[in-house]
Amino acid sequence: MISKSLLIQLQTELKTAYSGDITAFVNDITTDLTDSKTEKLKQRSGSNIPSGKIILSARNLTKTYTVGGERIHAVDDVNLDIAEGEIVAIMGSSGSGKSTLLHLLSGLDQPTSGEISVDGKSLSSMTDNESAAYRNQTIGFVFQFFFLQPYLNVRENVEIPLMFRKMITSERQEKAVNALNLVSIADRIKHLPKQLSGGQMQRVAIARALVNNPKIIFADEPTGNLDEKTGKEIMDVLENISKQNRTTVIIVTHNPKIASRAGRIFNMVDGKLL
Ligand code: ADP
Ligand code: MG
Repeated sequence: MISKSLLIQLQTELKTAYSGDITAFVNDITTDLTDSKTEKLKQRSGSNIPSGKIILSARNLTKTYTVGGERIHAVDDVNLDIAEGEIVAIMGSSGSGKSTLLHLLSGLDQPTSGEISVDGKSLSSMTDNESAAYRNQTIGFVFQFFFLQPYLNVRENVEIPLMFRKMITSERQEKAVNALNLVSIADRIKHLPKQLSGGQMQRVAIARALVNNPKIIFADEPTGNLDEKTGKEIMDVLENISKQNRTTVIIVTHNPKIASRAGRIFNMVDGKLL
């Protein structure tokens, strides 16, 4: 409801600034409104337009599963641009499609339709060898439940991604130890996974993800199985790696504190990225 005093003020303004010209007055007000609206929209969509070189983009990305005749749109027409060195968080309730999206972007799974390009190269146009090399060298993946090989020790676990490349044993071991140093767990190289704490296992898994010096690290709820303090430490590790090497980090998390460390936060709802 417009108050009487506001009406009087408007009347006075009309008389003084616009010499009683109501059209000019209305034009000015609506321009103001439009400007502020446009500005707000710009700010919001600005969160979808990262600054810097785009390293990963998805266009109309869709993954549909058919189970018992029912179609599930796990990922539904997602468009996304992510810049080099960015830390991006993806939040959303269970079943909203976060893991499926990460698997598509990382080449672990194939989309039903849509396009993904990495560093300007389309994933779908890659040969099997190129796509294996992409998964092995351009990206690293960190899982909630670590997925370490139980019968291999810490260093051997980190050496696994290097085994697909021609490399002499001593070089492979050196690279593994360097990666373990980056995540501050190099004093446990002879331990088996079961001899480690959850936080230590996740450090090893991160070392394995970054041993090939990837451009992008995907982390699917990497702190989901850890206590608050350990989770924060794991996030510190990811953040440091991103800062030091300009590695892009895309992290799925339920924890708002973890997400708040990202430059941008996306929300997934029913397969759609908001
Ligand atoms: P989130 O990681 O957000 O919990 P997911 O990506 O795992 O969600 O799953 C998204 C939706 O897709 C869910 O409804 C899930 O049941 C379904 N889904 C995931 N993987 C498969 C699959 N292999 N076959 C059929 N449905 C699947
Ligand atoms: Mg998931």
